[in-house]
Amino acid sequence: MVAYCKNCGEEVQSGSAYCAKCGSRVQAQTGLVLATWGERALAYIIDTMLLGFVLAWFALPGLRLIPRVWGGDMMNWIPFVDFGFRNIIYFVYWFFMEQTYGQSLGKMAMRIEVTDLDGGRLDMNQTAIQALGKAFLLPLDLILGWVMYPSMQQRLFNNLSNTVVLKKQG
Ligand SMILES: [Zn+2]
Repeated sequence: MVAYCKNCGEEVQSGSAYCAKCGSRVQAQTGLVLATWGERALAYIIDTMLLGFVLAWFALPGLRLIPRVWGGDMMNWIPFVDFGFRNIIYFVYWFFMEQTYGQSLGKMAMRIEVTDLDGGRLDMNQTAIQALGKAFLLPLDLILGWVMYPSMQQRLFNNLSNTVVLKKQG
């Protein structure tokens, strides 16, 4: 059976829950629309800048105070894995915010939220797993997600935790 997206008319692959073209939820739940990678990237930049300011305020020794996306040390992108103190702070921040509110401050600003596949709240395991990839393995997490889950727009660790990022309703 061939299904078509109610929002944009694009043919939907069987078994995929979201339209690959516009991101609308295909099945019963209406109003669930995937956030774009651009919105998520901006939320990430807002979060890392805010944390950068906070960490700079406390002037902890040995920290990289400016997120490396802002021209810090590009070479550090290559090894993929990063387990610095800053990454632990990122993890704690995202875990706390997304478990409590479903949103980080950056996601609040962009009006997007992380949910389970049906738009519901995450349990602690889901929150922890998706935050782990984002905090410690982001380039790898993203690239593998782009390649493997284009229609769901999931990072690898979104897929592992059965989570998606949606436009916030209402
Ligand atoms: Zn569509």
